[in-house]
Amino acid sequence: MEIIFYSTKRYDKECFNLLNEKYHHKLRFVEDRLTPETVDLIKQEFVVCAFVNDVLDQTVLSLLAQRGVKLIALRCAGFDNVDLNAAKQYNIKVIRVGSYSPNSVAEHALCLMLALNRKVYTSYNRVKSGNFSIDGLLGFDFSGKTIGIIGTGKIGSILSQTTQAMGMRVIAYDPIKNPECEKLGVEYVDIDTVFSQSDVISLHCPLNSNTKHLINSSALEKMKDSVMLINTSRGAVIDTCAVVEALKTNKIGYLGLDVYENEQGMFFEDLSCQTIQDDVFTSLLSFSNVLITSHQGFFTENALENIANTTLMNIQKFENGIDLSNDELY
Ligand code: NAD
Repeated sequence: MEIIFYSTKRYDKECFNLLNEKYHHKLRFVEDRLTPETVDLIKQEFVVCAFVNDVLDQTVLSLLAQRGVKLIALRCAGFDNVDLNAAKQYNIKVIRVGSYSPNSVAEHALCLMLALNRKVYTSYNRVKSGNFSIDGLLGFDFSGKTIGIIGTGKIGSILSQTTQAMGMRVIAYDPIKNPECEKLGVEYVDIDTVFSQSDVISLHCPLNSNTKHLINSSALEKMKDSVMLINTSRGAVIDTCAVVEALKTNKIGYLGLDVYENEQGMFFEDLSCQTIQDDVFTSLLSFSNVLITSHQGFFTENALENIANTTLMNIQKFENGIDLSNDELY
């Protein structure tokens, strides 16, 4: 099939081109993000392959329908950027890669926890500049602490397992309990108990109308002083302005973010020669106990290969009218 890929980088092209040797689809890559202004880049492709920050709202979907697009293949797991009702209205099928490597994201969440606690980024810079002092780098043992996991699906359950192996007490909130986690001994509690009893809180739920700004000022008030908050899910699960206030009062002692609610147009881009115009984001950068990565949780060799393979295989199934089972959203 003819497929246009939006928001592509060198690594996307390399990986998809390599795996396409067995599928023989016709691929065209553009660097632009999909927005109402970039829909015109579509020539005769029936399939649009999109990523996390592409816009797939009512306006874009109506424009895609006018151009004859039949399938949107998300090369990611989250689908909060797609108006599924509009897709249905325009009869455009939407698929995603439901599971490619939950380990990649769980390991990244753990990486943020460990780096924040031991201030690895500070010691790296100190040693580089010949400063071998360890003053100010005091950490704590995770063993014996409580981690609260919000969302115990594929990623949250792996983090439950790893943190439990580190000697942590794992409590969790999820409207649907995961039997694997129950078997591990994860204690399911209500969300307020996660807020009040956790030393570390890690977010692994999808972004939807129930979870938007789940971490707001009232949730923050219930948390322990100096709590560590980790978000590798979607930026808007956190009310960032409330979090900035909580950093100022030391309610939050450590903040690790791989996602940010206004990351569109910023994350994945090299803006090092420009002034960042987002005041909330620059305010986050001013805290020494905040560690931000640019939505790289998914970014491992294994994950890229699985994403490309599943996406191309699903497009082939779509072409042949075969059921797409778990990866079909509509
Ligand atoms: P999943 O569907 O396997 O698990 C999500 C879990 O969240 C489910 O168990 C669900 O019941 C639970 N949930 C739903 N609503 C909830 C709520 N209100 N409160 C608590 N839990 C709730 O998904 P996953 O593969 O584990 O991925 C989780 C999220 O991680 C994705 O939705 C995506 O946004 C994000 N993600 C980020 C990256 C990255 O690169 N940073 C990569 C992949 C996924």
